[in-house]
Amino acid sequence: MVPPITLNNGVVMPQLGFGVWQVPDAEAETAVAAALEAGYRSIDTAAVYGNEEGTGRAVAASGVPREDLFVTTKLWNDDQGYDATLRGFDASLSKLGLDYVDLYLIHWPTPAHDRYVDTYRAFEKLYAEGRVRAIGVSNFLPEYLERLLDETSVVPAVNQIELHPHLQQPAAREYHAERGIATEAWSPLGQGKGLLEVPAIVAIAQKHGRTPAQVVLRWHLQLGNVVIPKSVTPSRIKENIDVFGFSLDAEDLAAISALDEDRRLGSDPATVN
Ligand code: NAD
Repeated sequence: MVPPITLNNGVVMPQLGFGVWQVPDAEAETAVAAALEAGYRSIDTAAVYGNEEGTGRAVAASGVPREDLFVTTKLWNDDQGYDATLRGFDASLSKLGLDYVDLYLIHWPTPAHDRYVDTYRAFEKLYAEGRVRAIGVSNFLPEYLERLLDETSVVPAVNQIELHPHLQQPAAREYHAERGIATEAWSPLGQGKGLLEVPAIVAIAQKHGRTPAQVVLRWHLQLGNVVIPKSVTPSRIKENIDVFGFSLDAEDLAAISALDEDRRLGSDPATVN
């Protein structure tokens, strides 16, 4: 049901997945179980979310064959550096209860520490060993990607960045597209804050007999983004994957394009340490 996208190394990733930021471990188990039941096959967690164990328990209990799942986790900032990265990865893998992860991301570049190149070299080792099927980054500005492209050998498969109608990131998307890096949108629903009440989005939702969240997810998919909406509410978990039975037209897409305010909800990647 969810269309696949092919990453630059040939690995296939569902274009829509399930995010678990800010979900406590026990609740993550229930939410991931509900998501797998609803048909999601891609799960996005991170070491710093503190819910890799709950995510892993839900995956193990689901009965979904491992090869049908796509599990992403992320290395936390404190674990950057070559050796620390290898230890951080072992800890994540063990908490998840898996033999490999599908996608491993550097969570933030933390440029002030200048360790992301060494960190990425450890990612390349994990990739060469087959312990991760694809490696990538998160919150990388083009200038940091440029350094990785210059100083390392494996082109990141993904850059996961804040992206929603109020922060459409046209320059980053173009930069990624030119280099074969998939753009993955975090906080795709704008964290469910004011975005879902914006009159233009509500009007498009009414026109299609859909919800504002479904319209925003559809906009991402039609732009080519990978999306990972989060919810712990079973009805919304189902609603957020039920976005393949309609399409936005050119007028709808133009109305949403006009909402860009270049406004972040989250942190500025240049200053996170
Ligand atoms: P989101 O944009 O997915 O919004 C989630 C919130 O929107 C929910 O908590 C809920 O309040 C609301 N919501 C969800 N579905 C809804 C619906 N159908 N109708 C109405 N309201 C709805 O926000 P997010 O959790 O920040 O981002 C999604 C995922 O992205 C995270 O869970 C995480 O996996 C990832 N993420 C990554 C980073 C990073 O630095 N790499 C940062 C933030 C988030």
